[in-house]
Amino acid sequence: MRPDFLTGPVPSADRSSDWSQASVVVAGLGLSGFAAADALLEFGASVTVLDDSASPENIEKATLLETLDASVRLGPGSAAALPDGADLVITSPGWRPSTPLLAQAATRGIGIWGEPELAWRLSRPDKQVPWLAVTGTNGKTTTVQMLEAMLTAAGLRTAAVGNVGRPIIETVLDPEPYDVLAVELSSFQLHWSHSLALHSAAVLNVHPDHLEWHGTMADYTADKARIFERVTHSCVYNVAEPTTESLVAEAEVTEGARAIGFTLGTPAPSMIGIVDDLIVDRAFVEQRQTSALELAKVSDVQPSAPHNVANALAAAALARSYGVPATAVRAGLRALELGGHRIEQIARIAGVRWIDDSKATNPHAAAASLRAYENVVWIAGGQAKGTSFDDLVTGVADRLRGVVLLGVDREVVADALRRHAPNVPVKMINTTDTGAMAHAVAAAATLAQSGDAVLLAPGCASLDMYDSYAARGDAFAAAVRQIRDTESPGTD
Ligand code: ADP
Repeated sequence: MRPDFLTGPVPSADRSSDWSQASVVVAGLGLSGFAAADALLEFGASVTVLDDSASPENIEKATLLETLDASVRLGPGSAAALPDGADLVITSPGWRPSTPLLAQAATRGIGIWGEPELAWRLSRPDKQVPWLAVTGTNGKTTTVQMLEAMLTAAGLRTAAVGNVGRPIIETVLDPEPYDVLAVELSSFQLHWSHSLALHSAAVLNVHPDHLEWHGTMADYTADKARIFERVTHSCVYNVAEPTTESLVAEAEVTEGARAIGFTLGTPAPSMIGIVDDLIVDRAFVEQRQTSALELAKVSDVQPSAPHNVANALAAAALARSYGVPATAVRAGLRALELGGHRIEQIARIAGVRWIDDSKATNPHAAAASLRAYENVVWIAGGQAKGTSFDDLVTGVADRLRGVVLLGVDREVVADALRRHAPNVPVKMINTTDTGAMAHAVAAAATLAQSGDAVLLAPGCASLDMYDSYAARGDAFAAAVRQIRDTESPGTD
């Protein structure tokens, strides 16, 4: 029998529930699956963990969980069917709703939650701290890191958690209480979230990505929109993207919550924006009809490419919504060091800058990156995930000195180039082995002229050829250094 606290359209489960009555299936033993299983075991639930991969990493995690009395099944077919008696499924974000196990759970009326929903539930009612959350197609991690830096500068105990790589639930289990969390939520995680009522939330932008998971753009957008449901203080939208504003208008927020815009232009009341070279707040100041408060200089944002300044504005809006003073917004931005592979300059060789933006894994991100350079040799390709490159190529064609394409979907990008930039030289790298990036870098070197940038901004995921976007960026950096050290001695 399913326990009462896990039945009904909105189950009441929280940290005070008797979890020893519950059988929970954890689908997928990734970072968040492991953390979820660990937490549920601590709360006394019977936990079954399933994963089709018996990688050495998974085996190690399984051994650990088994000592805590979990039942773990690894290897092909392990996650094919939902075990009898399951009361709840906690799913890994990567699993599509059509996965047989999840489809069976849906048919049987069993709740399917992501790790954020579990973390939210297990912190209620008495360990709940405010969540300031960010979603969007691009810029989530950067924005959450900026937000974390601002909150820290304000003297608050906080952490950047969620899709950024640290499970939220770890903070719930931490005996030392947090003041506030900076949470990155992906569209997948939002799809499996049902009762979050965030303090404040931001949608940075919405562009085609992950369509192979969500099916349609409408479904992808609808999942992003879930972040605003029940928000208690501020729903932050991007003035340059009317879709994000309409998501706020359509959301069922808590009475009294406000819509706050961010803009690279001059802000109207209830917005954060730019005046001259300053980031200013016209949203969280008393006299917002007539005045604005300086938060920071645009140059405090590094790199100060327009899309990154937009991220800083969104982070500032969330921080200010929580009451962070202007001085801490500025101090946070100044203190921040962003992770690698995001517009990271690797070398300058014979007047050519070599830039690693391997993190640009969809066309919208790659377009933002390309717009930061006037003349660019673009290295692109990988897994296109059902997206189109037509808009991107149309928008940046006049900046392209040449293009080098690699990876499984290189023809998708090549087709768009043939249609919209037929005069731009394109070199195809047709090998997919570990040497492919060295060929790509060598080809780019033949196209680049002094003053150009060579930009790895693939617009695609990396998993066809690499373990991660970081591994792809590392391969690029290694090949660039090889050129610098062997072929062009004496350059800067
Ligand atoms: P996410 O966590 O959403 O994947 P990141 O902050 O890691 O986003 O940035 C990923 C890439 O997206 C960056 O390398 C950059 O190319 C691009 N990017 C970052 N912010 C934006 C933005 N606001 N708009 C468009 N592209 C962006």
